[in-house]
Amino acid sequence: MGEFLNILIIEDSEDDTKLITRELLNDNIQLNSQRIQTVDALHIQLKNCDWDVIIADYRVPGCEAPLALKIVQQSQLDIPFIVVSGAIGEQVAVEMMKAGAHDYLMKDNLLRLGEAVRREVREAKIRKERRNTEIILKQQRVAIEAAIDGIAILQKDSYQYVNPAFFKLFGFERSEDLVGKNWDFLYSLEEATRFQQDIFPILKQDRSWRGEVVALRKDGSTFSLGVSLSLSDDASLIVVCRDISELLQAQALIAYHALHDPLTGLPNRTLLSERLELAINKAQRHDDYHYAVLFLDLDRFKVINDSLGHILGDKLLVGIAQRLKIHLRNTDMVARLGGDEFVILLEESSNQKTVIEIVERIIEECQTPFNFDKQKVFSSVSIGIVLGSRDYQQAVDLLRDADIAMYRAKKEEYCSYKIFNKTMYIKAFNRLTLETDFRKALEQEEFVLHYQPIFDLLDNQLIGFEALVRWQHPTHGLIHPSQFVPIAEETGLIIPLDDWVIRQACQQVNIWGEKFSNDFSLKVSINLSAKDLRKPSLIQDIDNLLAETGLEGQLITIEITESMLIENLENTIDVLNTLKLRNIQVSIDDFGTGYSSLSYLNRLPIDNLKIDRSFVRQMQADKRDYQIVNTITALSNQLGLVTIAEGIETSRQLQLLKQLDCQLGQGYLFSEPLSVDEIENRILI
Ligand code: C2E
Ligand code: CA
Ligand code: CA
Repeated sequence: MGEFLNILIIEDSEDDTKLITRELLNDNIQLNSQRIQTVDALHIQLKNCDWDVIIADYRVPGCEAPLALKIVQQSQLDIPFIVVSGAIGEQVAVEMMKAGAHDYLMKDNLLRLGEAVRREVREAKIRKERRNTEIILKQQRVAIEAAIDGIAILQKDSYQYVNPAFFKLFGFERSEDLVGKNWDFLYSLEEATRFQQDIFPILKQDRSWRGEVVALRKDGSTFSLGVSLSLSDDASLIVVCRDISELLQAQALIAYHALHDPLTGLPNRTLLSERLELAINKAQRHDDYHYAVLFLDLDRFKVINDSLGHILGDKLLVGIAQRLKIHLRNTDMVARLGGDEFVILLEESSNQKTVIEIVERIIEECQTPFNFDKQKVFSSVSIGIVLGSRDYQQAVDLLRDADIAMYRAKKEEYCSYKIFNKTMYIKAFNRLTLETDFRKALEQEEFVLHYQPIFDLLDNQLIGFEALVRWQHPTHGLIHPSQFVPIAEETGLIIPLDDWVIRQACQQVNIWGEKFSNDFSLKVSINLSAKDLRKPSLIQDIDNLLAETGLEGQLITIEITESMLIENLENTIDVLNTLKLRNIQVSIDDFGTGYSSLSYLNRLPIDNLKIDRSFVRQMQADKRDYQIVNTITALSNQLGLVTIAEGIETSRQLQLLKQLDCQLGQGYLFSEPLSVDEIENRILI
C-alpha cells in the first residue's frame, strides 16, 4: 500500500494533469488531487486544505509558477513546491530553485516525479518536526528562566547554565557571575567534602540524588538548600534546588511545640518521659549512675488562680518555671506536666544528701514572694522525691511514686518534701480500698464523733466542743479524718457523712443539756465541707433538726475554711446570712493558710476566726509566725470577731496567745479530742 497524499496541481492543461497523476499512481502513490489555474483558487485552497505537495506548471496564464510560489511562501505554510514544465530553460530552473522551489522536472521526463514527491514530503515532515522541537525548546527555556526553583546545568564540573532563580538564591546578580565557575564555588570546604565522599558516589550509581545540603551565599552566609541532582545522558549534571531554611525552621518549630509546654516553654510530659526512660536504661547499665526525680506541686494554686485570676496564675507558673531552672545543671531537666505540677530530673545526683540540698534550695527559692504589677503573690511548693533505683522499668512508675511522695509531703505540711518509700505506695493503694469500704461504712454506721473541748483562755472556763469524726474500721481500727475526708470530698460521700455528723452532734449536745446541769449552754462546733455548703437542702435539713431536738441555734457553730469561702463567695455569703437568722454561729477554720483574704473579712457574716495550728506551733521558734498571729488577733478584735487558737500544746504558746488577746483555744495542752464516755467521765463531771 503506497502513501496517501493531498496534492494540489496548478495546471491549465487537463491532459498534462492526467499525465502527472498517472505518473504518481504508477509510482504507487495514492493521492487526492485538485487542479486549479488561478491565483484566487490558490488562495482558497491554501486556506481550506492541508496540502502535502504543490505541483505547478511553470506557464499557467495569470498564475505562473514564480507568482504561485510567492503566494505559497507568503502563506507561511511549508508545503513542498515542485515545478513541472515543458521547455524550461536551465536559467529559469535555477532561478526557481533559488526563489525557493523544492525541485523541478521536465514534462517529457516525469519518471523522477514520484521519487521527488516522496523525498520532499519526507523532508517537509522533518522540517516540521524540527520546528516543533524548536518551539518546545523555546517554551522550556522560558519556563526554566521563570522557574522559582534554582536550576543549573553543569558540564565537566563547571556551571554551563544557571537560571535567574539560581544565581539570586546564592546572592549573585547575573548568570555570568557563575557560568564557568567550578561547582564547589558555592559550598564550604566541609560541605564540598561531603559531596565528594557521600553524595557523588550515590549520584553515580543511581543517576540521581535528592537531599539537603548547606550552601554558601556570595556574602559568605550559609543556608539550607534542598537539592535534586540528575545526571543526563551526555554526562551533564542538572541541579534543581531551593532554599529550605524556612521549611526546616517550621519543622523544628512543630517538633518543638510537640515536646514543650507553650506557657512556660519547659519540656512537656512527652519529652520528660523520653528523658526518664533514658535515665532508667542508663541506671540498668551503669552501677555508678544515680538519678532522682522530683515531683513539685504548688501549694494552694487553685485558690490563687480563682481569687487573683488566670492571668496572674499564669504569671506565677512562668515565674516558678524560671526559678526552677536556676537550680539545675545542664544535664538536669525541668518539665511541666500540666496545671501546677512540675517534674525535675536530676542526673548524676551522687547521693541523697545532695538531692536534699537541691530540694531545700528550691523550696526556699519558691517561697520568695513574686511582684506582679505591684501585687505581691506568695507561693510555695511541696516536693515528692524518688531516688532512682534499678527496680524502675518505666517512666510512668517513677512519676507515680514521685506523685505519691508529693501527696504525702503536702498532706503533712505545705511547703515540705518527702522521699518516696514502699510504705507510701501501700498507703496510696489502701486509699483505693478505703473508698469502697467507705460506702459500706456509711450504711453500717461505722463512724463515731469525738469531741475536743474549747476553753476561754482568760479564765480556763469550758465553753464548748469541736466535733471531730472518726471511722471505726472493722480491720484497720480507728481512722482519722485526714485519711478519709479528702476521699469523701472527692467522691461526694462527704454529704451523707456530714448529714450524719450534724445530726449526731446536735443530739449529743441535747442529751448533755438534759443530763448535766440546768444552765448547760455548751456549744458544739461542726466542720463542714465546700460540698455541704452547696447542698440546696442544707438550711431545710438544719431547720428540721432544730425543730426535732428543740436545740437553740446559738449553741451550734459551723466551721468552714477560707478556701471554701473564696470558691463561691456570693453564694456562701447567702448561706451564712441564712444561718445567722437562726443564730447559728460561723467560724473561719484554718485561718491564715488560705490565700490572704483579710480584705473581704468585713463583708462576711461571721463570728470567729480560728488561727491555724501551724502558726501556733511555730510561734516560739519563728518570729514570722508570731507576727502573723499578732496580725490575725488584732484584725479579728477590730472586726469584733472572737479569735480561737487551735493546737495549743505548750504553756508557752498559751502565754503568748494570751498576751496577744486571743480569747479562746483548744489543743492537747487542755485535752485531746475525746469519746462521749471520756467527755462525760473526765470533763463534764
Ligand atoms: P480541723 O478542723 O482543723 O480540726 C483540728 C484538728 O487538729 C483535729 O484533727 C484535731 O484532732 C487536731 N488537734 C487538736 N488539738 C491539737 C493539738 O494540740 N496538736 C495537734 N497536732 N493537733 C491537734 P482531726 O480530728 O484529725 O481532724 C482533721 C480535719 O478533718 C479537721 O481539721 C477537719 O478539717 C476535718 N474534719 C474532722 N471532722 C470532720 C467532719 O465531721 N466533717 C468534715 N467535713 N470535716 C471534718
Ligand atoms: Ca475545725
Ligand atoms: Ca483547723
